[in-house]
Amino acid sequence: MAYRSAEHPAGDRVVLCAECDWLMRLPARELGQSAHCPRCHHHVAEAAQPNAQQPLAWAIASLLMLALVFVFPFLGFSSSGVGHVMDFVDSARSLIHYHYGELAAVVLATTVVLPALYLAALVYLYGGIQLGRRLPGSVAIARTLRPLEPWMMSDVFIVGVLVSLIKIMSLADIHIRTGFVVFCIYSVMLIRTLTLVDWTSLWDAIAPAPSMVPVIRGASGRSQGVVACTACHTPFVINRGHCCPRCGKRHRAHAVNRLQLTWALLATAVILFIPANLYPVLYTVQLGNPQPQTIAAGVLGLWHHGDWPIALVIFTASIVVPLSKIIALAWLCIKARATHMDHAMTNTRLYRMTEKIGRWSMIDVFVVSILGALVHAGSLISIRPGVGTIPFAGVVIVTMVAALTFDTRLLWPDTSRRCSTSHTRDPIG
Ligand SMILES: [Zn+2]
Ligand SMILES: [Zn+2]
Repeated sequence: MAYRSAEHPAGDRVVLCAECDWLMRLPARELGQSAHCPRCHHHVAEAAQPNAQQPLAWAIASLLMLALVFVFPFLGFSSSGVGHVMDFVDSARSLIHYHYGELAAVVLATTVVLPALYLAALVYLYGGIQLGRRLPGSVAIARTLRPLEPWMMSDVFIVGVLVSLIKIMSLADIHIRTGFVVFCIYSVMLIRTLTLVDWTSLWDAIAPAPSMVPVIRGASGRSQGVVACTACHTPFVINRGHCCPRCGKRHRAHAVNRLQLTWALLATAVILFIPANLYPVLYTVQLGNPQPQTIAAGVLGLWHHGDWPIALVIFTASIVVPLSKIIALAWLCIKARATHMDHAMTNTRLYRMTEKIGRWSMIDVFVVSILGALVHAGSLISIRPGVGTIPFAGVVIVTMVAALTFDTRLLWPDTSRRCSTSHTRDPIG
């Protein structure tokens, strides 16, 4: 079970672009080389890595750094002689204390639980490759990993911490403790680990690609009944069971009917956006007097205090991004099932931007969790979450799921007839 085993003996292979449905030849990559689709520039193969040791080492180191986050205090707060130190788990514990258990689950899942599972799975997979053995369950584990990637938000959490600190700087003295520094290092290491995962070589090592029937490259997969597995990215001719022959994942022939699901999710997001902005997302309790604060009121308050850069960050992340994401996805749903090439690239770029920026809306949810845990100064001042946080987190999650359900292949027409002169028949798998 050697790393990059299947890539070199045969040299080239055929891949199907997951975004524009284009079948193309992928030449054997040199070390460090990645590959892009010639039609839509989508990343079809990550930078080739020389071995499994590097990602394995980084995954282990990231896991250890994550464990250290729980050892040290995270942030300190003091006001008028009353002090308080929070550790990382307090950001979720305070939400549970105020009966927002579901938000606590979201905060813990996106910052530590999912990244920890992801890293542990990488250690298992790369450990098996290093040992030269296919460990039990490797294929099932690898199949479930990639969908976790958009939901790992430690970098967003760091921005949430910084925004929180600037928000309350005028109210109290803030102390950054070792735990926060360790969390920042863990976040950087996690991102570095993600860049070292070469999925093409990893799949070759744990489940060699099956041999398949010849297909025409330089044409769409749709025109030949070929789809790319969403887990292992192997192109295969759609079969009766709609199962990927390499990893066993069930697959749809062409997800046209998922458009209705995307529309339904967008409608849900619009409905949730109303209470998210009408109800307070937090209460500042000073001398026993709770002052509710909606998202818009928080932005205006920051603006009037002269903290306009933070006001702009919150306004962009909490209002502009979710709204523009809903509008952009609705536009893309209207433009789906394209019959000509005009604007296909522009619409695909719009989708990519929508997909990338959506997770940053979680900043405000993290701000509420951090402020609720940090600002405790008896009856003098405290901050607790407001009911508006739940529909707001709902908007962020539902729009992210809506983006994931959208099938970008629908933005590209089936151009197989137009490109018939350049057709070449190649085996896939
Ligand atoms: Zn493409
Ligand atoms: Zn597969």
